Amino acid sequence: MGVTDKLHRVFEVDRQMRGLQSRLRAAERFLAEQERQIGELETSLASLKSQLRQLTASSSNSEGEVTRLDAHIEELRERMNNATNNKEYKALLTEVNTFKEQKTAAEGEAVGQLETVDRLKEQVASHEESLAERTKVRKVAKSDRDQRADEIKDKLAELQGQREALVADVPAHVMSVYVELIEVREDEAMAPIEIADRKRHEYHCGSCMMSLPVETMSALLSHGELTRCVSCGCILYLEESTREAMAAKR
Ligand SMILES: [Zn+2]
Repeated sequence: MGVTDKLHRVFEVDRQMRGLQSRLRAAERFLAEQERQIGELETSLASLKSQLRQLTASSSNSEGEVTRLDAHIEELRERMNNATNNKEYKALLTEVNTFKEQKTAAEGEAVGQLETVDRLKEQVASHEESLAERTKVRKVAKSDRDQRADEIKDKLAELQGQREALVADVPAHVMSVYVELIEVREDEAMAPIEIADRKRHEYHCGSCMMSLPVETMSALLSHGELTRCVSCGCILYLEESTREAMAAKR
């Protein structure tokens, strides 16, 4: 058996392993997305709660200010009632009016703050609701991920054992070419040579479909040497049916 056929056995095992892992990866991605959304919700919830605390404090200050101004106005009115002359009365009245304006302003501020407090409370409630929902989804996503990992665990271990035995039969420099290709091309790291036109000796790469020069195949055909597609760089192999068809022609 040539080196290409030996490598092809590794490739087929790798393909099965990737197939098994792809459902697990999808579950892992879904779970990671839930984690990300939960993280975002928690961050904005913390920020909303902090705004709410500050504004609640400010709003209670404004209310305190209104009470203080009220008391002051009341005191001035008391003094107005006891005024001994018109000049004193007028002076006190002016002062009352000034404090009344301040009180109106403070009341307006308090109302505005209370409205914002209510709005923030609604936002906090809706964030908490979303967070609770998302947490439920995460729980399901996590158990789905665990279940998938568990389902493929034994089969993966078996394939891993097969792979190790097969890899032992492939020269290290060939494996390193292969491993690099797998990183970028995954299932397209190796491709079969396909017959485009048998009579005219036209063949193409099963991955990129570009035609292959006859000399590309001669090394592969005769000794099973590592042969790469001149167009896409994948490692070419011959399927048994193709090999037989080519042999019959020759
Ligand atoms: Zn190609």
